[in-house]
Order: sequence, then C-alpha cells, then structure tokens
Amino acid sequence: MIPIFANYPLLEQNLSYKSLCDLPTPVHRLDQLGKRIGLNNLYVKRDDMSGMQYGGNKPRKLEFILGKALLTGTKTVMTLGGIGSNHALATAIYSRQIGLKSISMLMPQPNANYVRKNLLMSHCCNAELHLCGTGLDSIFNMPLVRLAVAREQLRHRLSDGCFPELIPPGGSSPLGAIGFVNAALELKEQILNGEIPAPDYIYVACGTMGTAAGLILGLKAANLKSKVIPVRVTGEKFVNYQRMLKLIRKTNALLHSADNSFPEFVFNPTEINIRHEYFGRGYAVFTEEGMNAVSLMKEYGGIKLEGTYTGKALAGLIGDAENSELKDRVILFWNTVNSRDFSGSIEPIDYHNLPKPFHRYFREEVQPPDQIF
Ligand SMILES: *Cc1c(COP(=O)(O)O)cnc(C)c1O
Repeated sequence: MIPIFANYPLLEQNLSYKSLCDLPTPVHRLDQLGKRIGLNNLYVKRDDMSGMQYGGNKPRKLEFILGKALLTGTKTVMTLGGIGSNHALATAIYSRQIGLKSISMLMPQPNANYVRKNLLMSHCCNAELHLCGTGLDSIFNMPLVRLAVAREQLRHRLSDGCFPELIPPGGSSPLGAIGFVNAALELKEQILNGEIPAPDYIYVACGTMGTAAGLILGLKAANLKSKVIPVRVTGEKFVNYQRMLKLIRKTNALLHSADNSFPEFVFNPTEINIRHEYFGRGYAVFTEEGMNAVSLMKEYGGIKLEGTYTGKALAGLIGDAENSELKDRVILFWNTVNSRDFSGSIEPIDYHNLPKPFHRYFREEVQPPDQIF
C-alpha cells in the first residue's frame, strides 16, 4: 500500500487512485559528484525511474488524476503544454495504457532534441496532437488557446458524445500534487529504514509547482524539517510565492476534506523558498550553468539530465554549494526527468506522419547548446 493510504486510511476510500508507478523510487548517495562540488552528503531521489514505461515526476501525479478519470467514466482526456511537454507525453503514454484516448494542445517552445523525441512518442501512443497559441505564455494570456481548447472539446463532444476531461498544464492540480504528498511520505519511510539521513535541503525543478507544493505539504505531514528549494524554470507569472501558497492550501484542503485526520497546516513565508536566479532567458532556453550541471552529473553521477528542468535545478544546488555552508549538510537532489529509453518505439516513425504544423521542429536546427548532445 502506498504510504499516504497507510497513514490516512480514509483517503484510500475517498480518493481514486490508479497504480502506474514502480514505487518507492530508489535513493542513493552521489559520492563522486558530491566530492566534485564540495558536499559530503549528497543524495539523489531517482524519480527518473518512477514508471516502467516512462519515469520522471509526471506519473506520480497521473496516478491520482487518471485514477479519478477512470472512476468518473471519462473516455478522453485533454491536456496542455509546450510542444516538448513531458507531461503531455506522460499523459499520452499512461492514458493509452489504461484505455483512455488523449489529446494534447501544444504551444511553441525553443527547439531541442527531446522536443522531437517527445512529439514522435506522443504520436506513437495515438495521442491527438494540436499546435495552438503563440508561445508558452499563451497558456495564461490566452484567448487563442482557450478558443482552440473549446473548439476541440466541442468537436469531440459532437463526434463521440462526451467532453474530454481537461488536465491542467504539468498535471499540477491539487489532485496531481497529492502524488508528491505521497512521495514525501515515501521519503520518510526511506529515512526510517536507514536508506538516507533526513535531508536538510531538497532541490527540485519547479515549472507548474505541483511537485514542490506536494513535497512541501507532504514533508510537513511527515513531520520532517527538510526544506524544499524549488528552482524556477518557467516565467515568474507561473511560479511565484502567492501561487505556490494557493496550490499548497488547496491540496491541503482537498486532503483534509477526504480524511479529516489529515491536518490543516499553516504555512509561513519562510517555508516557501523559490529560487529565481537560474531561470535564464526563458522556459526551455538552456543556460550555461544548467548545461554545465548536466555534464557534471553525467560524468560524476552517471545520470542523464537535461537543460529545461533538471540542469537548472542542479545548477541551483551547485551554486549554493559554492556560496554557502552546505558542506556537511544532507542535500537531496530530486530527479524529476524520465530516464526510461523509448528510442526503440520511435525509431520507425517518420515525422511526416505528424500533423503538418509540427514538421518544422524536425527541419529546423535545435538550439545551439543542445547540438553537442
Ligand atoms: C514537469 C517537469 C518538472 C516541473 O514539475 P512541476 O511539478 O511542473 O513544477 C520538472 N522536471 C521535469 C523533467 C519535468 O518534466
């Protein structure tokens, strides 16, 4: 049984859950990388291996989101993101696995190799792909995107009789964030089992906040003092103190209403420590520090990261290791990116089979820092 249900049995009755992951994900030391960057107690949480078909942070959220979709009889889900969205891909993969159809409404973003791979894999999973909006910002200032979403929803209502269930970007609804409340309780069990000492700091990439919000709430419920350091990788209007607090509170309220033995906590500003200085010039624009962090992790930790999320998060950790008193502290890097290899599945696919608006991402160059990979 997953830890959140073991701790709060009423939640198991009142929340729908579909197991998609292979949990718990491992934790282990990173001795060589730690030595290289001046840390004596550096660890990693291997959420890159969360799901058998596709890992990373998104499957944990989908266990609750798709669990509910199954219970309510949804046939089709629809989600939004950048064209390279890991969340849209995870939704496509796991929806297909459980027999749901998925639609991805995708917005332009800087080109990269993983963008191409994710598009091909989404297509391979029979996801219906639409290009909409003018850029990732259009998720928020978005008559165009809203119109495209409404049009597709209506079209599906007319063709198969029901509206697709809308999953927010990144799967970061309160329901999705519960996946990371569970993850924090899972970490607590690993601490009690002696697999890792209680971390002083947990570094994690922060894009739509569900991961960090769930962890902050879950650590509190687990009575752990570990501080989460969310490293912002999207625009400040997506990730900021007010929105983070709101998501934590809504997630807390949902859990409390489903099982009133789950306490209602009070959070103060010092518990939310978003780091803004590693963002660079934009979402999915790779930075020098980020790519340097990717190289260091590969060479000294043997784990593959990337430039949009985890490179920037590790750059934040490395920056702090250089500047402050973290040497003997216990530091945990929460790895949020997928490491399951799906190259075999996409190899036979020709990009010309994708909808035409996506073709240019296969013809045009990827951004320069990505060309060496
Ligand atoms: C989506 C994503 C994140 C960001 O997680 P949020 O819960 O949206 O903040 C971090 N890393 C990777 C690899 C992701 O795909």
